[in-house]
Amino acid sequence: MNNDYEIIMIRFGELSTKGRNRKDFTKTLFENIKNATRDDFPSLTYELYYDHIYININNEDTSLVVERLKDISGIHAFSLVHRIKCDIEEIKNESYRLIKKEEGKTFKIKCKRGDKKFPIISDEIIRIVASKILKESNLKVDVHNPDILLNIDVRQEGTYIYIKTFQGLGGYPLGVGGKSLMMLSGGIDSPVAMFLMMKRGVLVECIHFASPPYTQQAVIYKLYDILKKMNKFQERIKLHIVPFTKIQEEIYDKCHESFAITIMRSMMYRLSEMLAKKRDCLVISNGESIGQVASQTLQSINVINNVTNYPVIRPCATLDKLEIISLAKRIDTYDISIRPYEDCCTIFSPKNPKTHPLLKDVLEQENRIDYLPLLNEAIDNVETITIDKEFSL
Ligand code: ATP
Ligand code: MG
Repeated sequence: MNNDYEIIMIRFGELSTKGRNRKDFTKTLFENIKNATRDDFPSLTYELYYDHIYININNEDTSLVVERLKDISGIHAFSLVHRIKCDIEEIKNESYRLIKKEEGKTFKIKCKRGDKKFPIISDEIIRIVASKILKESNLKVDVHNPDILLNIDVRQEGTYIYIKTFQGLGGYPLGVGGKSLMMLSGGIDSPVAMFLMMKRGVLVECIHFASPPYTQQAVIYKLYDILKKMNKFQERIKLHIVPFTKIQEEIYDKCHESFAITIMRSMMYRLSEMLAKKRDCLVISNGESIGQVASQTLQSINVINNVTNYPVIRPCATLDKLEIISLAKRIDTYDISIRPYEDCCTIFSPKNPKTHPLLKDVLEQENRIDYLPLLNEAIDNVETITIDKEFSL
């Protein structure tokens, strides 16, 4: 990328509407941006203004910084900008110099005069700049669908010229939304659900139910790899591994096979609630998607959800599998998720799982197990691992 633009201007979008919380939001975003870029790009410097953040690129590689910013939630859009003096000659000449380097046949100019002390009004600035471009190049004006959009922002601290704008992730800065306990399996859906929670500003900790020797250690390695990928959205992620074997064996010993999945999932919910409370997580979230499998019909969700008073957020609930897959590819977890290892759901999978379980039947089946001591024992034996940049096996 060229060096004509020495600054990145970051816009907040949704944040702008947040009134009283605004200050916290922008401060959090400012800190998140610094944390995410400081180590890899030590020469960057940062400026926080009311509705913008500026990053001075100094001698860092612009395209690498741009890639990094695309993964930070709370950024609505950002542009490569050139800062000059608020002087009409300079505005005219620099606009012309920059637009000449662009590819395209048509252009449009947008101008904002935030600094009302500047003596020339926006329309007049546009006219002055456009007439130079029209006179000295072959570019034509197209106000509806221009190849090149030239923006001129006249502000108190300087005038900013920019052409190239990138879409940000949107959402809220991570950390402004409290904390969720994320049920993480080795599948495609749960990392996507985790990403969607993070994008809303919610920090996550993960809970995973492992049933060795029925499930393999390879699943855990898969989770490490997934969480390493998720570190680009959240720097440190805790993974709580719950020993689930005994509970699962009890279910298969004592309950009717067709209820096994329903009851297994209700135990997962119970354990998640217990751990969520312990870890100060305000909600539980998971990768369930309506109708995807027997345990995710509305009837099943309704029955399984009866075991907890905790709010459960299912960000993938209304997404199609193809939409989920495309998000999984966007966050780069897809290839890891499709590695073929069995997890506790697939291993004991009954031939005819209940798609319309009745609560009274489920309760009757569940009560064949003395599950409370088992749940407490599982929670007491949780193994917690923190995945961050330094983590390796
Ligand atoms: P896939 O992506 O192939 O659908 P999945 O991981 O979503 O796999 P499901 O059986 O659909 O598997 O489970 C629904 C949700 O329940 C998961 O998205 C996850 O949030 C949670 N879950 C399932 N198994 C586990 C597990 N072993 N540990 C923690 N959470 C689990
Ligand atoms: Mg699923």
